[in-house]
Amino acid sequence: MPDDMVDAHIHGVRNALAAGWRVLEHGGSSLDAVEEAVVIMEDDETFDAGRGSFLNRDGKVQLDALIMDGSTLRAGGVGCVERLRNPVRAARKILSESPHVYFVGEGAERFAAEHGVPLCTNEELVIPREVARLREYQAQAANGGNDLFAPAISHDTVGAIALDRDGNIAAATSTGGTLNKAPGRLGDSSLIGCGCYADNESAAASTTGWGEPIMKLVLAKWTADRISAGNLPEWAAQEAMNYLKQRLNGHGGIIVLDAKGHFGIAHNTPRMAWAYKSVQKEEAGVERAG
Ligand code: ASP
Repeated sequence: MPDDMVDAHIHGVRNALAAGWRVLEHGGSSLDAVEEAVVIMEDDETFDAGRGSFLNRDGKVQLDALIMDGSTLRAGGVGCVERLRNPVRAARKILSESPHVYFVGEGAERFAAEHGVPLCTNEELVIPREVARLREYQAQAANGGNDLFAPAISHDTVGAIALDRDGNIAAATSTGGTLNKAPGRLGDSSLIGCGCYADNESAAASTTGWGEPIMKLVLAKWTADRISAGNLPEWAAQEAMNYLKQRLNGHGGIIVLDAKGHFGIAHNTPRMAWAYKSVQKEEAGVERAG
């Protein structure tokens, strides 16, 4: 995250936090809270989610999202959707109104439309900043440039985790994936247990970073398992980042929360925007030590 993007990121995560908190304050569920928080970040062009996402190799926005309810283990996911401003809304409809868990591409868009989630054109999701970024990246790659420099092509996925007054936790993750990805490529973000997971008996988690290593390690579930084994989320989040780095030289970040309200925030990149709020305290930042 370059210096001149720090303020926009802090602003974005604070807005998301406020939206999630509003839900919880009014007695709403953690599931509603994470959905509303993620919608705010999908709508914010700062992030790689919704409008303003990275473009794929064909210059299109292709989005993935997952939402999961820790009390029932119900989940809803969409992959490779091109006509949804808020894929997390479609994911939520799948969770609440479908016997299935995961929809991709056109079928996901059709399901969304049939359940009241409006469709848009792909062009509406594309912004000039990303057209320029893709052009520059492709020009560099054509000159034998840093085609595989992973940190430059995978960042700014959004995620939220929450605990409500009934003691239930939930998680949601939404992304435009990686820059210049092949059409049809799906990352970790919308895969259960990889980029997102929630179970009251272990933890809720959401990840960001280079998706291929994260999904190979099933990292969100890996982290939740450490917590059900008796470790604190703070430790497990840090361990997950160490594991990602050591095992596959992956980079990224994770937010984790258990049903007692213990949480962890960790990243092995120089920066990751984060924010949290509890009854006692509210904080936000772009670096999280230890
Ligand atoms: N994890 C996402 C993906 O690989 C990218 C990101 O976190 O920004 O699709």
